[in-house]
Amino acid sequence: MGKPFRSLTIGFIEKTTSDEEELMARIAIIYCKRIQDHSCIACLKCHKGMAEKNGEFARHDEIELMAMTDCGDCPGLTMPRVKLLTEVARGLDRSFDTVHLGTCMKAAMETADCPIDFDDLKVTLENKFGVRVILGTHSY
Ligand code: SF4
Ligand code: SF4
Repeated sequence: MGKPFRSLTIGFIEKTTSDEEELMARIAIIYCKRIQDHSCIACLKCHKGMAEKNGEFARHDEIELMAMTDCGDCPGLTMPRVKLLTEVARGLDRSFDTVHLGTCMKAAMETADCPIDFDDLKVTLENKFGVRVILGTHSY
């Protein structure tokens, strides 16, 4: 009796995992190196936002957070940062298909003289790395 049950259970798990992967956004979050841990301690707001599908996270059916890292610091060294992140993530089988530039980066661009031009960066990252790039994360 025990063996068939185990077999069915394994089959169910494999099917569920496969279905979830089709709906899953595998995301990397990039945060402003100057703001992170000052306005958002421990990135709790993004973690809450992902759990509640708040703000820009609402566009995803399911979210798997693959990585979080900083923007590379001023004056906006995000390209080499994402290049390194992409290479390391691939090596660890933790590739991502979506990059969110955190709400902290959005605020920095809008209010703090951040030198990053989002439109340019989005096109460059999408063409170079084949990912979707979204400006913003949570709305808290
Ligand atoms: S907006 Fe998100 S990524 Fe940026 S510092 Fe806040 S919690 Fe972290
Ligand atoms: S202001 Fe812009 S370039 Fe400077 S650390 Fe923040 S996000 Fe990065």
